[in-house]
Amino acid sequence: PVFEPSNAARHATELYEIVAKTNKPYLLFLYTDGGPDHQVKFIKTQLALISLFLALDLNYLVAVRTPPGHSWKNPVERIMSILNLGLQCVSLMRQEMDVELEEIMLKCNSMNDIRKMAEKTPSLKEGLKQNLNSMITLLNDVFEQLQLKDENFKIFEDASELDIDILWNSMLQLDPTLTKDDRNWANIKNNPISNFFNHCCHSHSYFFSIKKCGKDDCEICLPIRSSQDIFNTLDHLPDPVPANNEHYKNFSDVYHMDTSESYCPSIQARKAKLDKYKKKQRRDKQMPWTGNAQRAIHATQIILDCHCNKSRCLYASKKITEDEKKILMAHLDTVCYTCGTTFSQNDNGFKMELEDDSLEESSRK
Ligand SMILES: [Zn+2]
Ligand SMILES: [Zn+2]
Repeated sequence: PVFEPSNAARHATELYEIVAKTNKPYLLFLYTDGGPDHQVKFIKTQLALISLFLALDLNYLVAVRTPPGHSWKNPVERIMSILNLGLQCVSLMRQEMDVELEEIMLKCNSMNDIRKMAEKTPSLKEGLKQNLNSMITLLNDVFEQLQLKDENFKIFEDASELDIDILWNSMLQLDPTLTKDDRNWANIKNNPISNFFNHCCHSHSYFFSIKKCGKDDCEICLPIRSSQDIFNTLDHLPDPVPANNEHYKNFSDVYHMDTSESYCPSIQARKAKLDKYKKKQRRDKQMPWTGNAQRAIHATQIILDCHCNKSRCLYASKKITEDEKKILMAHLDTVCYTCGTTFSQNDNGFKMELEDDSLEESSRK
């Protein structure tokens, strides 16, 4: 558990080991949460899925993630409630290791710390592995007694580094330049693998799909393994499209249609935020001046905004004297400050107003 971190390549390898033992399907549908080891937008995940696609010689693979905060929608997550039953009243303790190793462990506050330390002290890795073995056996025993619909849970061995490498290498026939450090599109967009991405893959916020083109003489993907009739009914997933009532259109109405992600709530929210930012920028331009570095030198004092409880910095367009500052401070005690207001100076002291070039508030925190 310590030295076998969850990542996309490990998940793909372990899934491969399970699926390869069955009578090799040609379609694979995955449903996961959006954690970093599953996040379908990440190139690392996409490459792991491509390696799985190639190794199993699939016709079509779709990986879909649940919306943020809704992993409960994923049926496999329900295993957690049963696993928790098995963990009721179980307390775990590992045995002690050598004094030196225990001393190293005292300094480690996270899995990452332990992994880093193990690089410096290889005996820590072996020591911990042996040390945790009895605990893992105990947990396996507990979990194997749990059931879902009268069927006992099965435990599978974690994939070895070698297994992970073998699955990864299935991609090298497509692109020998690929390395495990390739983690963003910029790394690979000029490499041969990008042809495969463009030819077979659809990458959306909530799903990633890989599909053969179906042509027998294709140089990028292999020939299909099912009948042409079945293959012809397959298409990349459509995006949700709103219907006139408050629902989305039925899947069957949009399948095979050319859709876009523009109705995705998070994309709309991001766009609205961007629009608001642009509008704000425009508004800032209309202000007499903006709080730039020059004026920041004259920053007079931090005051508390009464409406949104954030500290705002007041800037002055010209240097103000100590006396003027005192008058301003006195004035600030008498007013209820709101973001965006400015203060002007006249013979009677300071006056709060919105458009003036004597003193101004910058909306930066
Ligand atoms: Zn093809
Ligand atoms: Zn405010």
